[in-house]
Amino acid sequence: MPAKLDMVIVGSGPGGMATGILAKQKNLSYVILEKGKNPMQGIIDTYPKGKKVYPTIPKRYTQPFPVDEVRPPDERIPVEAYIDQARAVKEALDLKISFDEEFKAIEGTYPDYMVKTNQGSYLTSNIILAFGSNIPNDLGIYGEAKTVARNIENGEDYIGINVLVIGGGNAAADVVASLSRIKREANDATSVYWAHIKEKFEINKDTARDLGEEMLLGGQIKILQRAVPKIGEVDADGIDRLYIHQASNVAMDNDLYIYQGMSFPMKNVIACIGTHGPSAIFDSLQLQQITCTGNICKIAKEGERLLMLSDHLETNMKGIYAIGGAISPSYMEIGSDGIIKEKKHSNLIYTAVLDASMVMENMGPE
Ligand SMILES: Cc1cc2nc3c(=O)[nH]c(=O)nc-3n(C[C@H](O)[C@H](O)[C@H](O)COP(=O)(O)OP(=O)(O)OC[C@H]3O[C@@H](n4cnc5c(N)ncnc54)[C@H](O)[C@@H]3O)c2cc1C
Repeated sequence: MPAKLDMVIVGSGPGGMATGILAKQKNLSYVILEKGKNPMQGIIDTYPKGKKVYPTIPKRYTQPFPVDEVRPPDERIPVEAYIDQARAVKEALDLKISFDEEFKAIEGTYPDYMVKTNQGSYLTSNIILAFGSNIPNDLGIYGEAKTVARNIENGEDYIGINVLVIGGGNAAADVVASLSRIKREANDATSVYWAHIKEKFEINKDTARDLGEEMLLGGQIKILQRAVPKIGEVDADGIDRLYIHQASNVAMDNDLYIYQGMSFPMKNVIACIGTHGPSAIFDSLQLQQITCTGNICKIAKEGERLLMLSDHLETNMKGIYAIGGAISPSYMEIGSDGIIKEKKHSNLIYTAVLDASMVMENMGPE
């Protein structure tokens, strides 16, 4: 059995890498477990090619970016350059990241936790769960999951075809702007249809600026508001299709409504409809969660379960912390006065890194 570690960090995204950097600065022993093959694998898996990375700091925060090594530069570099930056930092600092190693379970109690992975186990007193939030939401329609993409693997594959992007947030907006740019630069006359179930799109200023610029440059972006994805069907050529229905405001007599719809081959559809928190994982680890009932939550929906954390992000199990995307967009905070309330937590690189620094400042001696 290898020597006991001060901490095991799960995930090598911005939160996990920042924790590792701070652990190293404090001469603590640690390992970062990463199920993928690269640092920042979560970002590699979810960002469209060429997407600019913003060092966004939400208005309500006053602290500067706490760990410069993982800070996206102000000049907004493409995601590929940000990943290169992470690889260079890993090499320069000799960060201990174990790739292809997937976290599975925790056994034992503080201060002797045993962390189980697909490759073996680690004895440690502290565990930092920084595994992000990338469990995709379901579209809620029959037969969807297999063929509908969740992100662009290769933008060039969409040249010459009309593509449908579903979702009303930043991830969808980024994909729409990237695809439109790729098509425009290839002089492709086909369109990017952008469908959202609601009337209003919810995107931040930086993303809106990119999208506006793309539209002004002649991007073929067609917006479909109040558009609901409906059951996929197989057409006469044996191709799986997805229908998008928009309810018109014209209601006819006798409960009749007029709908207009469009149908796309499923392989031309990208669903950026967000992710849900890793509640099932927290359950399996027996970490305490609180259900939102009777309007106690403003961000999470009624019935959703939120992880309960102290004001320095420790779970109900001593020495186990959760940070970053894993606790976004909100969690339940127990204040020092014992009052529990929902705490907003934007899913950003900055917040993940700030969480890392807060955990490392408050982690007590064993
Ligand atoms: C399309 C898109 C664009 C975005 N643009 C921006 C932006 O411009 N600026 C910004 O600040 N934020 C942006 N964000 C949000 C930002 O990427 C996240 O807030 C940030 O990556 C969260 O960091 P994290 O370390 O908590 O998690 P992640 O970056 O998700 O990292 C988690 C890591 O854990 C690994 N992992 C997961 N499960 C396990 C397991 N069981 N065992 C081992 N490893 C595991 C994953 O492979 C991953 O590498 C964007 C997000 C998306 C989807």
